[in-house]
Amino acid sequence: MQHNIYVYNTLTRKKELFEPIKPPFVGLYVCGPTVYGDAHLGHARPAITFDILFRWLKNEGYKVRYVRNITDVGHLEHDADEGEDKIAKKARLEQIEPMEVVQHYTIRYHDAMKALNVLPPSIEPRASGHILEQIEYVQKIIDNGFAYQSEGSVYFDVEKYNKKHRYGILSGRNVDEMLENTRSLDGQSEKRKSVDFALWKKASPEHIMRWHSQWSEGFPGWHLECSAMGQKYLGNEFDIHGGGMDLIFPHHECEIAQSVASMGHPTVKYWMHNNMITINGQKMGKSLGNFITLDEFFTGSHQMLEQEYSPMTIRFFILQAHYRSTVDFSNEALIASQKGFTRLTEAYERLTKLKPHAETSIELKDYRTLCQNAMNDDLNTPMVISTLFDASKAINTVADGKGTISKVDLEELKSLFNTYMFEVLGLQTEQGDTVYLDKYKQAIDLLLNIRMEAKNNKNWEMSDKIRNELSSYGFIVKDTKDGFEWSI
Ligand code: ZN
Repeated sequence: MQHNIYVYNTLTRKKELFEPIKPPFVGLYVCGPTVYGDAHLGHARPAITFDILFRWLKNEGYKVRYVRNITDVGHLEHDADEGEDKIAKKARLEQIEPMEVVQHYTIRYHDAMKALNVLPPSIEPRASGHILEQIEYVQKIIDNGFAYQSEGSVYFDVEKYNKKHRYGILSGRNVDEMLENTRSLDGQSEKRKSVDFALWKKASPEHIMRWHSQWSEGFPGWHLECSAMGQKYLGNEFDIHGGGMDLIFPHHECEIAQSVASMGHPTVKYWMHNNMITINGQKMGKSLGNFITLDEFFTGSHQMLEQEYSPMTIRFFILQAHYRSTVDFSNEALIASQKGFTRLTEAYERLTKLKPHAETSIELKDYRTLCQNAMNDDLNTPMVISTLFDASKAINTVADGKGTISKVDLEELKSLFNTYMFEVLGLQTEQGDTVYLDKYKQAIDLLLNIRMEAKNNKNWEMSDKIRNELSSYGFIVKDTKDGFEWSI
């Protein structure tokens, strides 16, 4: 199979032809959430972006091993090496175990992802389940001379690394400038230089999550888990590493330094990053009061929301922008997406009801090639959507009786929507649910009609059995003068 997928590589700052290291296998690693709170719009974007990549690679015949981790330890409050562990803090405030926090929010994250029709990854490893791998990784970096111990903690020696390799290749940062711009450490810190980062932190007495190591009772640095788990599940070299742009520095920059320091070569061939979501032009943040969780979107229960927005509206809204562009949330923008998505699903429903004619009288384009080219061009989902809208115009023309379509062309249009709207973009119509609901109502009516017949035939045993069993499932059956009514 000839592949022609181009992706933008943050490392080389250009679009490159995607050539996997060991075709047809593709290794894909994406940084998952730190599970200490409900998923918000900012979590939906990377999840959906890399879901699209996962779906497209599979559609193109690749065998993808998609690893998306759960961060359950080591992510400190200030993203740097200071502050309380985010999960431990939540556990302290709620007076529960850290792993209860992790379990609770992991389940909620999965529920939100399922609602957004984000496919589960092939492997979803947790940082706390890979402490041994992380300790080994740190030891290799120490053995290679790129890390030092200080007061039971281990730090990555950025300056020394930078003399041999370049620290900053991903983010474009310059170590010398970084050192000039940060105030010199006053001797209070365990770190030699402000640019150094923690590989292992000695736990303070109040720190709950701690493991034994050769250096101290402590816990791994945040950047380490992805290097260790990526290597464990995808090997010393793998194809794609993704995440939000906010992770380029320091998280991904540090991952590159760690892998080069431990193995002598970089691990990742293509680095891909999605852009951010702003809310009315502002960055999203708990302190700014514009922090809206996905559940709040689905139920409309945040003060900034004028209404509820279905998961598919959110998905469609995110896909209407290219993943490398910013997306600005506003009620107007989401309502426009809701309308757009409704127009698309209505066109699809009309398509399923069209009757073929002997010939096609309307002009049809090669929509499939247009969609394929758009996806191959660095996942250009807005272009795929606009092509589907173009096809919708043709559908509506025929449905309005202003043209005809042949059987072959009709089947091609149906197949186009199945592939691109449902499989590749991962959109879902509510139709499936409605059909099930109708069938279920019909089945209850059928049962109650049988009960009516039984009553008319004075078969009390049968009629009571049906009513009692239904009521044991929570149905309320009322006899009326015309027959019956039921509710739950
Ligand atoms: Zn990561």
